[in-house]
Amino acid sequence: MAWDFETEPDYKAKLDWADDFVRREVEPLDLAFRESAAPYDRRNPIYKRITDPLKAEVRRQGLWACHLGPDLGGAGYGQVKLALLNEILGRSNWAPNVFGCQAPDSGNAEILAHYGTEEQKRRYLRPLLDGEIVSCFSMTEPQGGADPREFRCRAVRDGDQWVINGEKYFSSHADLAEFLIAMVITNPDVPVHQGASMFLVPREAEGLTIVRSPGLGGEPLGHGHHAYIRYEDVRVPRENLLGGEGQGFLIAQTRLGGGRIHHAMRTVAVVRRALQMMCERALSRRTQGGPLAEKQLVQQAIADSFIQLEQFRLLVLYAAWHIDKGHKSEARTYIAAVKVQTAEVMHDIVRRALHLHGALGCSNEMPLINMWMACR
Ligand SMILES: Cc1cc2nc3c(=O)[nH]c(=O)nc-3n(C[C@H](O)[C@H](O)[C@H](O)COP(=O)(O)OP(=O)(O)OC[C@H]3O[C@@H](n4cnc5c(N)ncnc54)[C@H](O)[C@@H]3O)c2cc1C
Repeated sequence: MAWDFETEPDYKAKLDWADDFVRREVEPLDLAFRESAAPYDRRNPIYKRITDPLKAEVRRQGLWACHLGPDLGGAGYGQVKLALLNEILGRSNWAPNVFGCQAPDSGNAEILAHYGTEEQKRRYLRPLLDGEIVSCFSMTEPQGGADPREFRCRAVRDGDQWVINGEKYFSSHADLAEFLIAMVITNPDVPVHQGASMFLVPREAEGLTIVRSPGLGGEPLGHGHHAYIRYEDVRVPRENLLGGEGQGFLIAQTRLGGGRIHHAMRTVAVVRRALQMMCERALSRRTQGGPLAEKQLVQQAIADSFIQLEQFRLLVLYAAWHIDKGHKSEARTYIAAVKVQTAEVMHDIVRRALHLHGALGCSNEMPLINMWMACR
């Protein structure tokens, strides 16, 4: 009988360690350094001085870059164990960086490992895995994101080089990255799943301009980290093609599947935190002659949130299990279901938590508005 909801004791001990470590050492960083992209800023000496010893401790515990196999410096635990770890790390904006498994670097590392040449791995993958640099995934365009058939950014061959022209939008952390992985049309005469390719583009490449830096709602205009980029005659050598010519779509699918489920795993943590805050508020706040917790509507809000969270968590773990088992078709279906539910569950539970916190919930002294922004 293989169905089992227990965690093996050795790994449970590691999770307990991670839970305590994140609470004591990492969550305080969220309060001290609140800027959303701060954990990605490898050039800031203060962040480096604080996080280097924490990363070293994570390595000692064998929990560094857990999304990767041992050949790439990870523990090769698989997706179910990664889900259990991410249920802890997702509580903190800093924790994924301290544990070496933050998006988009985790997905970028995976495709470099799968499709990169030895030289590409040496130059780009190694420092990425060591946490020395961060990277960017540059795919979405101003006129279309959900449908790659709308992409117009083009690359053409010129001798031993490729020349890239076009625009990209919401290329997260391009301003902090050492390199970008750009998905670009190399053959417009065939369907996009055969006509797109991926290129490794150094951030300092001539002709690459960050036109604007949109942020998320609530962040001051022009100070975000989701770059609007113009590529104007950006030249990269032939060796910077990642995988084969025309393989861009295939590579993107490999990457986005992992990215989606990892976001979902961390969302379990965010939503659990919102539920815990709701419970705390219900017990501590008095109105109409008694604590909020005694009101039946409040009890229902908490019960509905608990049920939604637990259902979502099981769906995420089931999707992760399909990936571990190599059930490709089922994994695709369940990752798609998880993607839809991630936004819905987070939206519903954070909305209830916000409501119960009244004015305090809407204030910038609480994390609830940031959670609300992150739902989509
Ligand atoms: C915080 C954040 C970070 C991001 N980081 C990156 C990044 O690092 N790199 C990157 O390349 N991109 C990034 N993106 C962009 C993201 O990948 C796109 O937003 C996403 O692919 C959707 O594209 P779009 O925004 O252009 O929406 P659109 O394509 O304009 O879609 C608009 C609406 O149409 C709906 N729609 C789509 N198809 C159909 C259909 N057949 N029928 C009915 N409705 C449909 C969509 O669901 C959506 O509701 C990021 C986005 C966010 C919010």
